[in-house]
Amino acid sequence: MLTSTYNLSLVLCSFLVAILASYTALDMAGRISTAQGRAAHWWLAGGACAMGLGIWSMHFIGMLAFSLPVPVGYDPTITALSLLIAIASSAFALWLVSQQTLPWSRLAIGALLMGPAIAGMHYTGMAAMRMTPGIQYEPRLFDLSLAIAVVASGAALWIAFHLRRQSAHVRLFRAGAAVVMGAAIVGMHYTGMAAAQFPLGSICGAARTGVNADWLAVVIIIVTLAVLAIALIISVLDLRMEARTSVLASSLAEANEELTYLALHDSLTKLPNRALLKDRLGQAMQAADRNNSRFALMFLDLDGFKAVNDAFGHHIGDMLLTEVAERIRSNVRGEDTIARVGGDEFVLLAGIGDPADAATLADKLLGLIQQPVTVAGHELRVSTSIGIAIYPGNGAHQHELLTNADVAMYHAKAMGRDTYCFFETPMNANVHEQLQLVQDLHSAIAQRQLILHYQPKFDAPAGPVVGAEALLRWQHPVRGLISPDQFIPIAEKTGLIVPIGEWVLDEACRQMREWRDAGHTSWTIAVNLSPLQFSHANLIQTVRDTLARHDLEPRCLTLEITESTAMRDVEASLAILLQLHEMGVRIAIDDFGTGYSSLLYLKRLPATELKIDRGFVRDLANDTEDAAIVSAIVALGQTLNLSIVAEGVETSDQQNFLTRLGCDTLQGFLLGRPVSADRFIETVSTVLTASPADAEAVQAG
Ligand code: C2E
Ligand code: CA
Ligand code: CA
Repeated sequence: MLTSTYNLSLVLCSFLVAILASYTALDMAGRISTAQGRAAHWWLAGGACAMGLGIWSMHFIGMLAFSLPVPVGYDPTITALSLLIAIASSAFALWLVSQQTLPWSRLAIGALLMGPAIAGMHYTGMAAMRMTPGIQYEPRLFDLSLAIAVVASGAALWIAFHLRRQSAHVRLFRAGAAVVMGAAIVGMHYTGMAAAQFPLGSICGAARTGVNADWLAVVIIIVTLAVLAIALIISVLDLRMEARTSVLASSLAEANEELTYLALHDSLTKLPNRALLKDRLGQAMQAADRNNSRFALMFLDLDGFKAVNDAFGHHIGDMLLTEVAERIRSNVRGEDTIARVGGDEFVLLAGIGDPADAATLADKLLGLIQQPVTVAGHELRVSTSIGIAIYPGNGAHQHELLTNADVAMYHAKAMGRDTYCFFETPMNANVHEQLQLVQDLHSAIAQRQLILHYQPKFDAPAGPVVGAEALLRWQHPVRGLISPDQFIPIAEKTGLIVPIGEWVLDEACRQMREWRDAGHTSWTIAVNLSPLQFSHANLIQTVRDTLARHDLEPRCLTLEITESTAMRDVEASLAILLQLHEMGVRIAIDDFGTGYSSLLYLKRLPATELKIDRGFVRDLANDTEDAAIVSAIVALGQTLNLSIVAEGVETSDQQNFLTRLGCDTLQGFLLGRPVSADRFIETVSTVLTASPADAEAVQAG
């Protein structure tokens, strides 16, 4: 046998190339599995070439490191064939590890195909020497080299598959794995070389045509390293680009998500908006139809929210809304929908078993919203009115269901607020009635259906009469006498309040003129102004003209505006009130105590009178809190030099208590109900000559 020797530095080189080729293979496997579409094919093709070339050149450098005592060369065609085998088996390996899964069976088949392929490359490469006589292979070492090739291929496939995803230390793992894989490839090669035995007298058939081995080694090493390096660099650059693209794509996805969220949610409270509610309502109706189940649609409208907004501004109003929204949201079930559908309007969609469940839920909501809210140091209180519609039953379509819940909510308001009301069919009749009422109101002035009643105001405790408050009534041809609570809100909404208000002012002044002419020169007449009238540009001129028309001194007229009207736009209100004050007209702040006046502002108001809201007076006897509020208001009024009027006095206990507290003027059913001008004179003369108890008897009779 010929004795062979190895060039150690070339052996080392072959080992390094094997490691680098393994690393490239692992990297390519990662690229192929993350690339998409055609890019994946390109990566597979390029990766297979780089990796195949790497493995092959490892093998070839290993061959070059080997020398025999006879001249040696390599047949180019057979060598090229061995390169082709290397590239083809690399392509197969890369394709295999870029699949979604790699079950054990597939791994085994892969290893059984790849191992022989690599061995095939090796032994084809050996055949390129064209030795005569042929190379003899030692069977056990030959089998061992084949076994190493199969096991190394299996291990390489498994590692490549598991390291293909980008993760924290993937490069480090790959480097380690590349060393192990490189060692396996080199092991296979040199085991195969060790198996080869060259009989004495062998000649290499390719020696003459072959190229100088040392030069060939240098060229192959350089080319291989260059190809592997370029492949790795492109891979890293591409990965960076892909990472950037994926960042862009994910921020685009986020922006899209945000846009969808904004389109379906209220920006202030973050609750679903009307659009999302409609969607959920549609789903709830379908689910209820399918499962024979029920749900409640509740329409919530806050009571007293406007007053907060007027007194403290939108900023505080917004914070209050946010807090109320959060309270509701955190107290209903996750699967229920609570949406904000208007300024202070919310809609709750809740699955229920029985209508009684809706009542329980509504009760809970009332309780929640009643709790005071502290916003920016102010303790605010609002309540809510709830209308409930049940599906199925109270409407077949979304629109109908919502309208009916809304109608029921108006009923809750009419029942005195802070309560809930289930929808009932006759309520719809009311809606039509309201529309009819608007129609009728248009012609009410022209048809002389409006009249004024007058309620006397008394010097505390029981007289003399100091004046009267004019209170509007509508003598409806079909429905009889309608009270202002029933039509003033409509007049306000439709703007009709402006001409109606002008009529009231004119009529009240005409009456006052008549009374003055009859000798009641100390009386004053009080006229209520609605918010819309108060902010109407013509107000000052109208008042001036009306007084002039009836030849009345301004001090005979008191204009009553509610506390919340005065607070709506503080500076604008002040400007108007100052003009009225300069004219000499008296100003009363009506329903005092229900709004949120600030003391500072109250000091600047040119008011002459404070009217304590009749709500406080009503509960005086059994509610110590109300008593405390009334005495505080009286004390406040006295400091500010305002005349204090208590309205709604119904019992002599209230009369005595209010007098003791220091109220200047009393007004109420006990002393005199609102009556027509004719009866007013009758009543007043009776009161003037009788005790309060008799007066009550007169009123009742
Ligand atoms: P207001 O200005 O607070 O008027 C007092 C209301 O209390 C009147 O109701 C009166 O009848 C009622 N009242 C008087 N004494 C008692 C009492 O002892 N017990 C009880 N429970 N109630 C008493 P009315 O006439 O129904 O008026 C309701 C509201 O309608 C008025 O409240 C006022 O805000 C508005 N209003 C009435 N007339 C006019 C008007 O001409 N123009 C405007 N803009 N609003 C008006
Ligand atoms: Ca009033
Ligand atoms: Ca009042």
